[in-house]
Amino acid sequence: MCRRAVDDPKLLPFCSPRCQQQDLVNWLDGAYSLEGPPPDDVDVRPSPPDDDES
Ligand SMILES: [Zn+2]
Repeated sequence: MCRRAVDDPKLLPFCSPRCQQQDLVNWLDGAYSLEGPPPDDVDVRPSPPDDDES
């Protein structure tokens, strides 16, 4: 995953228990980010007044 030397082949594709844990954290982080809209979407502006063009 991080291109380091593999300490234990049993841990593949991870190079270490820490690397495996970090990958899990990253995966969960991505999974949770899909739960709802991004914070930027919360911007709610009042509708503009009607322009009287007639
Ligand atoms: Zn790694």
